[in-house]
Amino acid sequence: MNTMKYDVIVCGAGIVGMATALALVRAGVNVALLAPRRAPEPMQGEQYHARVYAISEASQAFLASLGIWDAMPQERVTEVDAMQVNGDRDGQVVLHAWQAAKPHLAWIVESGEIERALFQALTIYGLPWINDTMQAWQPGQVTTADGATLQAQLFIGADGARSPLRSAAGMAHSKKDYGDKGLVTHLTCEKPHMNTAYQWFCNHHVLAFLPMPDTSEGHQVSLVWSVDDATADRFLQMDEATLALTLPQALDQVAQGCLGKLSVRSRLHGFPLTLEKAQMAASGVALVGDAAHRVHPLAGQGLNLGLGDVKVLAQTLNQKEAFRSYGELRVLERYARARAADVMAMRVATDGLYQLFSRELPALPLLRNAGMRLVQQLPWVKRQLIAGASGL
Ligand SMILES: Cc1cc2nc3c(=O)[nH]c(=O)nc-3n(C[C@H](O)[C@H](O)[C@H](O)COP(=O)(O)OP(=O)(O)OC[C@H]3O[C@@H](n4cnc5c(N)ncnc54)[C@H](O)[C@@H]3O)c2cc1C
Repeated sequence: MNTMKYDVIVCGAGIVGMATALALVRAGVNVALLAPRRAPEPMQGEQYHARVYAISEASQAFLASLGIWDAMPQERVTEVDAMQVNGDRDGQVVLHAWQAAKPHLAWIVESGEIERALFQALTIYGLPWINDTMQAWQPGQVTTADGATLQAQLFIGADGARSPLRSAAGMAHSKKDYGDKGLVTHLTCEKPHMNTAYQWFCNHHVLAFLPMPDTSEGHQVSLVWSVDDATADRFLQMDEATLALTLPQALDQVAQGCLGKLSVRSRLHGFPLTLEKAQMAASGVALVGDAAHRVHPLAGQGLNLGLGDVKVLAQTLNQKEAFRSYGELRVLERYARARAADVMAMRVATDGLYQLFSRELPALPLLRNAGMRLVQQLPWVKRQLIAGASGL
């Protein structure tokens, strides 16, 4: 089989991998994508992709700069204008976009719609897409599952939390299993969500309702419920009829009728939750997205962190000195250094919040709810919280 040569090869075609390839091809880099090539299916009418993401202001601006934002059907994108965060007693923090003089706090977008827009853009740019998977790596070269040899100065691992490239290149990686799963599905709700994202931090679990477009069945929210594995598995194993009865009852115990009567609209999916961190750069290899880090979804920031990697890596590669190669460790270390603070801050914030609401110490419920009540009284702190979540 022939050996193919590029300057840069991106392994993995999730949102982060496709965004990396697009950012580089737009900058004129000789880049190829190595991943199974599947055109994301369009959803018809009132059907919605199972996965949705809260997209921060920084990610929205980045996707817009790539020409992706306006390519998505805007009627499927929901603006988040407020966030209501509830503690497990009387603590509550409500953040409004106007409190930080912003038009919106975030946007809820289906994964499939971002993927479709990225896939179309890559097709228009004629990006070489090698429909295969990475199997083995050695400096400057990978071998694919079909036995092809690909050479490049730089291989970018955008191949997800289990990153085969990270393992093959022997890059350091640590992982903590939360012993929880994130349950996701879409719900019909009786009351309008008012473009508000609702969240309840309870002892050992976090519940979120994310606003989605209204449908002929009624108002709609997307559920993200992080619960312990045993509870999650119990719901995941239920037949449709039992789930339709049991899940709304369980959610209502927490949400207390906040959005009125709830009913399940779509299949329930479960995702294991972990805290992971990897060495982001080595000679000839850089990692982006979940290959580089994974955080608890309680802040809805994992993909936003990954898109931040893409933006900084593309800038670093574009600004490198002409005499250096794309894979030179000195260049890639600039990228790793530039990302270290943001990745660390998100790990500390998400894991800290998780620990605060999962510890059994007797005084903690009192303290954390009192803390929330205090934040609710402090406009300056609220503005800092909004600025932190916007990723700018
Ligand atoms: C319940 C839940 C809710 C979440 N909500 C949010 C949210 O609201 N906002 C947010 O910002 N983030 C959220 N996240 C985080 C977000 O889902 C991830 O951070 C994001 O999907 C990571 O994207 P990725 O492209 O890095 O990885 P992936 O989506 O895992 O993509 C990896 C790709 O690599 C490919 N691949 C694997 N092996 C190979 C190989 N050997 N060769 C080539 N290709 C390969 C795979 O086929 C896949 O396409 C949430 C996560 C969970 C679990």
